[in-house]
Amino acid sequence: MKKIFFLSVFISTITIQTINAQTNCQLKSGVACYGSGETVFSKVDAPQSFYRGTRGLTINVTYTGITPASQAAFEYSKQIWESILNGTVPIKINVYFLALGSGGLLGITFPNGRKNFTGALVNDVWYPTSLANQLAGTELNAGESDFDMYLNSSVNWYFGTDGNCPAGKYDFASVALHEMCHGFGLVGLSKIDTAGLGSFGLLTLDDFAPAFTSFPWPELDTLPGIFDHYLMTSNGALLSQGAFQNPSDTLATIFTSNQIYWSGIYGFQFNNNLEPKIYAPSTFALGSSMVHLDEATYPNGNANELMTPFATAHSSNHNPGPIAIAILKDIGWNVDPNYNDVNELLIADSKFQIYPNPVMDEFRVSGFEFQVVNTISISDLTGRILLEKTISASENKIDISQFNSGIYFAEFKSESGISTLKIVKN
Ligand SMILES: [Zn+2]
Repeated sequence: MKKIFFLSVFISTITIQTINAQTNCQLKSGVACYGSGETVFSKVDAPQSFYRGTRGLTINVTYTGITPASQAAFEYSKQIWESILNGTVPIKINVYFLALGSGGLLGITFPNGRKNFTGALVNDVWYPTSLANQLAGTELNAGESDFDMYLNSSVNWYFGTDGNCPAGKYDFASVALHEMCHGFGLVGLSKIDTAGLGSFGLLTLDDFAPAFTSFPWPELDTLPGIFDHYLMTSNGALLSQGAFQNPSDTLATIFTSNQIYWSGIYGFQFNNNLEPKIYAPSTFALGSSMVHLDEATYPNGNANELMTPFATAHSSNHNPGPIAIAILKDIGWNVDPNYNDVNELLIADSKFQIYPNPVMDEFRVSGFEFQVVNTISISDLTGRILLEKTISASENKIDISQFNSGIYFAEFKSESGISTLKIVKN
């Protein structure tokens, strides 16, 4: 079996924004992402919700400096999110496609925010406005974007959306997908200051200079983000809910413990009843630590790889993965009800292969070398199972001549786990 590496850097930074001293408060956080020079091919397909064609959310993008190719790729990633999340208040994103130097920077995202609004599920916690508006059922930030995203036009990008990112290029659609996930709320407000104190809600604009946003910068009042609200130690102690002094040496020690987990129930369930692990390396990196999934736990080929801090050229990942989606669900997002189980584990390193694909009447399955018992079940876009059978190296031909043309999903179960491949029937 081919071993794939995945190495590159998404460095993220968090920044915050203005308070309107009365009831409306705003938060801004930023996520800057960098690429490494590594180049290894891997590919993860978009989720089933995207192929079903349903769109539960409207995302309106105001582009500046965009090219036709980059806009088409961004629109593709936008539609993936529109297929996963549901909401009644349209999302507003400013996308700036600008030359940001050749230092490896891929992009930066700055979410806007609010706290203590009517409909907030938790008080004294910052929400990204993209979510706050859905919970409030109204637009809380009229005239302001929900997040600003800067994407570096100097990068050697691949703008195709087929996932076949060539060597040496970065997959624009994957980076856009990753950045939007930060904008929707996979972002926190932790930091360690120059005195070594760990804190929530003490970030200032100076922490991110020379970064800037289209909306003002708030006093964070030592309050955590809704993402921070769910972080816990390996002992189950919640980091931002009073168990630890803020700021403190203790928090700094915890932030660099490599033992931070997600406490939300959906994260647990979507991760096969394990607490998802958060990236918290021994050296704190502002905007990278505490705002991504753990790289070592979710390496290349893992269904949850997109929201880890490291990515690479030549690779594409068009599915945020079940843990990232579960995190958004835990913080309050209404998620496509079909995006909730192992069917979404469209794992890039599936041991099984289908050929030919697209299929006319029948296809064969390969990849049995290390398997004892294997089953295949084929479902349509609604999740209805149309065919189920045991397969083996000698019984590997599947007849789907009676199926209508369209997209189907083949789920393979073996002793090494479950994986899913997309089938196109002509
Ligand atoms: Zn990131």
